[in-house]
Amino acid sequence: MTTSNYTVLIIEDEKNISDFMSKALKSNDYRVITAVSGKAGLSLISSQCPDIILLDLGLPDMDGNDVITSVREWTSSPIIVISARTDERDKVTALDLGADDYITKPFGTPELLARIRASLRHSNRMDSNSALYIRPYQCQGLLLDFDKRMLTLNGEKIHLTQVEYKIVAFLARNSGKVMTYSAIMSNVWGPFTGDNNRILRVNMANIRRKIEQNPSKPQFIFTEVGVGYRMHEDENELP
Ligand code: CA
Repeated sequence: MTTSNYTVLIIEDEKNISDFMSKALKSNDYRVITAVSGKAGLSLISSQCPDIILLDLGLPDMDGNDVITSVREWTSSPIIVISARTDERDKVTALDLGADDYITKPFGTPELLARIRASLRHSNRMDSNSALYIRPYQCQGLLLDFDKRMLTLNGEKIHLTQVEYKIVAFLARNSGKVMTYSAIMSNVWGPFTGDNNRILRVNMANIRRKIEQNPSKPQFIFTEVGVGYRMHEDENELP
């Protein structure tokens, strides 16, 4: 993916963090605009139409979650929350309000770039023709062929139940992005499954036994504690 055309808006009042992100993004060919308050950010979003928004939750003039609510009234531009908060509920709230992903301070450049790539990729796919061919997901010997509904690891077929396949396919389609328990459950079991995620955790344990060398130290599907799961970024998408 070429990044030269993408404009990133950073809404962050801490100058050193904003500068760090600006520098990292500019040296990777993104165009960067910045705002230090929620109001200034909202005005730049309507005037500049950024391709992606990096949003600090703790802003001087308004709560970052109110920025998300306001933005979602008129645009689906991806929003990545930049949060110092470690409280999982804040992350889930931000995701439920329409944020696409989050990254917790402190973070490094590779992680920031990976999150941005995953969110841009996802939003581009949403815009494009849904009948578009989806190429296989590939990562460290794991290959998921969406057409054949087949998962292989180092060339060997992995037998998944219907439900296990749906979970893995959903995470692979959104690889690199965190998916909340509720998003996964409503995708796999439908919208009325309730919020008891035990059945999802049981299925995940079975999936991990089948694909992970060491299920307690997964290399393909990571746990985001209290939030959901994130599948390793597709190797085809790495720069
Ligand atoms: Ca702040």
